[in-house]
Amino acid sequence: MSGVFENNLQHPSRTANPSTERDTFDVIVVGARIAGSATATLLAQQGAEVLLLDRATFPAPTVSCPIFHGNSMRILEKMGVLADIEALDVPRIRRYGIRTEEFDLVARLPRSNGRDYAYSIRRDVMDNAIMQRIRTYPGITVREGFSVTGLVWANGRVVGVRGRQNGKAEQTFYARAVVGADGKRSIVAREVEAEKYAAHPNPSCIYYAYYRNFESIGEPSAVVYASVEDREKAVLVFDADNGLTVVSVGVPAARFDEYRKDPEATLETTWRSFPEVAERGRNAERVTSIMGQGPMDSYYRQSYGPGWVLVGDAGHYIDPITGQGINYALRGAELLAEAWARFNQPGARVSWLKAMSEYQAHRDAETRPIFDMYYVGEQMQLINKLGIDIGRPLFRAISRRADLATRYIGISNGATRVNEFMNAQNIARILVEDALMFEMPHRLLQMVSGTATPTLRTA
Ligand SMILES: Cc1cc2nc3c(=O)[nH]c(=O)nc-3n(C[C@H](O)[C@H](O)[C@H](O)COP(=O)(O)OP(=O)(O)OC[C@H]3O[C@@H](n4cnc5c(N)ncnc54)[C@H](O)[C@@H]3O)c2cc1C
Repeated sequence: MSGVFENNLQHPSRTANPSTERDTFDVIVVGARIAGSATATLLAQQGAEVLLLDRATFPAPTVSCPIFHGNSMRILEKMGVLADIEALDVPRIRRYGIRTEEFDLVARLPRSNGRDYAYSIRRDVMDNAIMQRIRTYPGITVREGFSVTGLVWANGRVVGVRGRQNGKAEQTFYARAVVGADGKRSIVAREVEAEKYAAHPNPSCIYYAYYRNFESIGEPSAVVYASVEDREKAVLVFDADNGLTVVSVGVPAARFDEYRKDPEATLETTWRSFPEVAERGRNAERVTSIMGQGPMDSYYRQSYGPGWVLVGDAGHYIDPITGQGINYALRGAELLAEAWARFNQPGARVSWLKAMSEYQAHRDAETRPIFDMYYVGEQMQLINKLGIDIGRPLFRAISRRADLATRYIGISNGATRVNEFMNAQNIARILVEDALMFEMPHRLLQMVSGTATPTLRTA
């Protein structure tokens, strides 16, 4: 395949579009939320003519209650939409982390891409703000209410999409490339039979809702409340836009059938079982319905092939508890746009498949450390069942030192490289230093004062 597509590509059903409007573009992007809007914008900025399709009509809700950081803001700024998002009455979240009955790992976010704060915004509000701006961009034709029902193939490659505008007659659009930015249940991935790799089930599912009159902890924050005694549940409390607070609870996926019988009780009872959250929410009023995400695998999907490419959740899905989905969708779009540039530049010698394989490899290399870190974390819980608990003393040790706490929470916004912090050597160093600085002096003091008998205890 050459770097330039055949200009006179013969389309099998060229007359299928009933209207007189344009039916051929450089790129068709299916799905117009985070991954799709970013891909469309970054390609249009290179001069590509893009058709951006979504079956939703914005504003439209979707299941997601996100927080995102400076690394995402950098790309939203590049897209020209950050100012629109910041006009939405959205607090700057600077305090971030995990709180348990045993340790408090809530710290100030370090700087990431020049920003030491995060935002949490309702998705219908945020996606609508982005869409309003993108509709104005030259080079992007937006079609909302358009459901893609299939792909068009010619000579073994994807050359377009079929679909219906608000259930009307089928229409066909053609392009040099079709981007599937259509989420976890991607029709593009299904049609091209993209295979999953590195998939594993996520341990928890999520219910959430937005509340008014939830008390802050002094300044805008995003706190995960967890219990070292009862690891089956956790509550996430994020200060969101317009004075709202989003409260999410994580419950074990293995017991989803039990919890789904009464989502309201699941959500309300779980967060009220954490004393500090119950206190913060004593005057709270729920202002949205309860949304949820059931059991779901994390995965990577083969994300390119002849004439097609996947971006965002369509190509790679990670447990929402990591708070990385938006960042990865945006960064994936950026990497895809860079690959497009290599393929599309005049006289390019980089084929479509080569450029897109580089995109996929780059995406995987960047996202795999957090993907693996959470998976290893889950495996460590199995070790806990054998009585070997590494996580608890590790988090306690990190929470005792401000420098470590900042580095740890910097993993979430990209300020800290996962592998530089969560490697075996560094973990061992943290545990040993903690023993020398805190545990041993504490025990010696106990022995001297006669309040403890000397015992050898392993971490
Ligand atoms: C409960 C929950 C909490 C989360 N919390 C966080 C968080 O804190 N931080 C974070 O970064 N991420 C979070 N995420 C993940 C984040 O929401 C996703 O990673 C992100 O939304 C992916 O964006 P996307 O554009 O790839 O896909 P989506 O947002 O799923 O968009 C796909 C679009 O494709 C359209 N589409 C699908 N099929 C078709 C079709 N056939 N024709 C036309 N259009 C179609 C859909 O209408 C949709 O608009 C969370 C997710 C969940 C479920």
